[in-house]
Amino acid sequence: MPNNTAEQLATEMPDLQSYWMPFTGNRYFKQNPRLITSAKGMHCYTHDGRELIDAVAGLWCCNAGHCHPKIVEAIKAQAETLDYSMAFQLSHPTVFDLANKVTAMAPEGIDYAFFVNSGSEAVDTALKMALAYHRIRGDASRTRLIGRERGYHGVGFGGISVGGISPNRKMFGTMLPGVDHLPHTHNLSENAYSRGLPKWGAHLADDLENIVALHDASTIAAVIVEPVAGSTGVLLPPDGYLQRLRDICDKHGILLIFDEVITAFGRLGDNFASSRFGVTPDLITTAKGLTSGTVPMGAVLAKSEIYDTFMTGPEGAIEFFHGYTYSGHPLAAAAGCATLDVYKEEGLIERARSMEGKLEDALHSLKGEPHVIDVRNIGMIGAVELEPIAGQPTARAMQVFRDCYDKGVIIRTTGDIIAFSPPLIVADEHIEKMIETVRSSLRALN
Ligand code: PMP
Repeated sequence: MPNNTAEQLATEMPDLQSYWMPFTGNRYFKQNPRLITSAKGMHCYTHDGRELIDAVAGLWCCNAGHCHPKIVEAIKAQAETLDYSMAFQLSHPTVFDLANKVTAMAPEGIDYAFFVNSGSEAVDTALKMALAYHRIRGDASRTRLIGRERGYHGVGFGGISVGGISPNRKMFGTMLPGVDHLPHTHNLSENAYSRGLPKWGAHLADDLENIVALHDASTIAAVIVEPVAGSTGVLLPPDGYLQRLRDICDKHGILLIFDEVITAFGRLGDNFASSRFGVTPDLITTAKGLTSGTVPMGAVLAKSEIYDTFMTGPEGAIEFFHGYTYSGHPLAAAAGCATLDVYKEEGLIERARSMEGKLEDALHSLKGEPHVIDVRNIGMIGAVELEPIAGQPTARAMQVFRDCYDKGVIIRTTGDIIAFSPPLIVADEHIEKMIETVRSSLRALN
């Protein structure tokens, strides 16, 4: 905190009645509220005046650390200058600057950026782009979409249809038609405690050939995967798996989409997972780290070949009937420009790569602690998987979450997996505190 102590910033608890909270047990939360009232760098401060280390960068998003002064300043300046600009044959300069900065960071050949407001919107936009791309090329029969089990692609109907998490689907009835799923690649009996990419599992990409054989390539528009699946537990791609998917897609004229909502902008110690793994998809979806979580924004990044295909109709006509009121919003664009500048000026992406070994060793030191059955990591992302209790699969991880919060560290849990994704400014002492707190919480488990 710059001036005030955490205790001085403690605030009164608001009336909790009317807010319907997303993705959380509302009734349990309202009995046990935990409110963050301010944040700075690696730390969050609570309503009751406590300081916590943020071991998850908000929700895998505050890569530059909380309330970075340059980003805050850019948002303030933009808010005072231009609050909004509509998109119908009008725009504003900052969003063009941002498109240039993002595509300059992207793998070679990815030269265009389409802005949206979230990861979910980025996914639905990319799926629609893929379908429209084939249609414009006279390939209108390519309508099938392929996702993967344990994939998370946000909460739009496109995203939950290609996603592979049953609780996110089963409340909502019919999904998009014509969707198949590749098998997930998580296999503890083969890959537990791997360092680096898991050695077993690249052959699972060949399932795409089975799907092609079943439906015929002429019906398939796109495959979407997270290069590293984040929300279902930090599942790293087996060595060679992504390249194999790329090769099969190329062979059959299928577009490959990487959902990099979590993995872009330094999270894996490289600009994108695509650059880290040396496999370039046709479309990349991003959000989160694009603005370091400060103002909601997502983007779909596209190869020139895709953009050019859309630009072949009559000039003056709308090329893609899709977009949002707030696409490329000035505040988000200003936050994005400042964020990407901060990553560059402060060398945060290189820093993430250089800290990878430290996080890896620290995480692996948890091997042998009570109930731990796997540890995995890459860049500034890691996970510790716990043995589930039959009939209450999330009980242990939730207990660790609560205990860590009480001891001063915010972690994320997903099922029985504890995830780490600290801001890229993380230092040795934060890693030590994160890991030692989790260790003590594991030892306190019943
Ligand atoms: N895709 C992936 C890979 C994600 O991790 C997320 C969010 N965790 C999303 C899409 C959805 O993003 P949002 O919550 O911003 O809609």
